This record gives sequence, structure tokens and C-alpha cells, in this order.
Amino acid sequence: MTDTVYLNGDFIAKEFAKISVLDRGFLFADGVYEVIPVYRCIPFRAEQHLDRLFDSLTEINLASPYNRQQWLEIIQQVIQANLNTHGENQSIYLQVTRGIDGERQHVVATPLSATVLVMASALPKSNATLTPVKATLMEDIRWHHCHIKSIALLANTLMVNQAKANGFDEAILHRQQQLTEGASSNVFLVRQGKVYTPPKSQHILGGITRDLIIELCIEAGLEVFQQGIHIEQLPGADEIWICSSTREISPIVAIDDKIIGSGSIGPVTKRIAASLLAFKSQLLAD
Ligand code: PMP
Repeated sequence: MTDTVYLNGDFIAKEFAKISVLDRGFLFADGVYEVIPVYRCIPFRAEQHLDRLFDSLTEINLASPYNRQQWLEIIQQVIQANLNTHGENQSIYLQVTRGIDGERQHVVATPLSATVLVMASALPKSNATLTPVKATLMEDIRWHHCHIKSIALLANTLMVNQAKANGFDEAILHRQQQLTEGASSNVFLVRQGKVYTPPKSQHILGGITRDLIIELCIEAGLEVFQQGIHIEQLPGADEIWICSSTREISPIVAIDDKIIGSGSIGPVTKRIAASLLAFKSQLLAD
């Protein structure tokens, strides 16, 4: 059984989906993307993901090739086309590049037709059991427009591969000692019952899960501070977790050789992870 992908208006088997070598996504990483988790065929927080997609496109001066309704229809068609391969829970990847030019040139001389790819993969099993992970602290080597969900992920992949090679699951990043985010996640810290996370800025991606977790913390009566965090504050945290749409919440029990809190999953992490699970189940039950 093979995956079906959407490429520029066609639904085709993944192995036959091809793009031109002159696509600006291929040559310059000139494009943006989204990853949307799907539960029981329903794209989760689709509106927020599309908002962020439109924001990213605006930031790179690229008109969206489709309106909101058209995007939702294409996503639903890709979900349906991949039901037999991946089931009702999927991870949808969509990418828009500036398109194919006549030759490799930095300047876009004539308007191009955007290249659109939408594909599905298996959604990692829900992390309800909360697998603890270890992270390593690294200097954030990315550019200064990290709020754009750009397909240019060379820095992110270099950092996470270095982390993996050293036996860690994620790289937690800092710029001049200020915590930014994970290589593919946002970071939260708990200290004396209060929750902290770096504020939205051009140095982090405004995660959809980050936003939801902030809502859930507030609902749970926890104080949340979106403020600068110096990396010296990390070892003194009672709890730290990272989050993303596909990873959900992962407790960080150690950063490099420093054990965080008790070295096991903390009570606030457990509580918020349970709220996240309940929120999703409730939504699907409605
Ligand atoms: N930051 C970065 C750099 C990411 O790649 C991701 C995952 N897309 C996130 C944060 C988390 O974002 P989201 O919750 O929307 O998946």
C-alpha cells in the first residue's frame, strides 16, 4: 500500500510525485510549511495552523494559492486518500514554495506559479504515558526570522542531529544565554508552581501546542509568565517540558548532565498533559 500525495492539483502515488530541479524550494528553500495532526479524520486546530500558514506566506511575500476553504478540502481529500495506509490518525505535512523559474536566479523576474505539496504520514502514538526525554543545550545558530515556518531547516537539522549523536533527544536552544525553543519544539519551565515560557518573538516559532498549553494552564488556575528566561534558570527548574503538535508534551528530566527537579515526571507536567489529552478527547466526542 502506498501513500497518496497532493501535488499541484493532482493526487498521485508518493513515489511518482516529482518536482522540477528549478523549483525555488529545491534551489533556495524558498517556501513555507505546516504540520497538522489529524485525529479520527479531523485536522486538529486546523484554523490556527492555516492562520500561521497565511502569516508565514505573507512574511515571505507569497500569495496563498488557495483560500481557507480550499485548503481544508485538499487536506480532507489527502486524509481520505490515505485512510487505508495510515488510518484515521495522521500527520499532514503541507508545503508551498515560490514555484519553478526558467533558470536558477536569486531575483524573481516574473511571477511564478506556487508549488503545493500535501502529504500524510502516520501520527506518532499519543504520548499519554509521557516518555521522559533528555535534552542538550546549544547555541541557537538559526536566522532572526524563526517565527516564519520556513522550509529552510538546515540549522534545525544540524542541531538535532548533533544532539542525537551525543545521546540526547532534543536540542534546547539559546541566543546569548536567553532560552529560545527546541530545535523542533517549544519549551516550558515550572518553578514553585508557576509556569514560564519565552515570549513570542522573531526568535521562536509560535507553536500551536504552545498556545493551547498556555490556555490549559490558565484554565487549571496556574500562573503563566511569557517572559525571557536566562539559561542559568534551567538547572533550578522544578520541571521542564517541550511540546509540539506531533510530540504533544515530552517531560525533560535532564539537560546535559544536570538532572531537572526530581529527575522524574513532575506533577504540573502530568496535570497539563492530562488536560491536553482530555481537551482532545472532548473535542472528538462532540
Ligand atoms: N518550534 C519549532 C522550531 C518547531 O519546528 C515546532 C514544530 N513545528 C514547534 C516549535 C512547535 O510548533 P507546533 O506546536 O505548532 O507543532
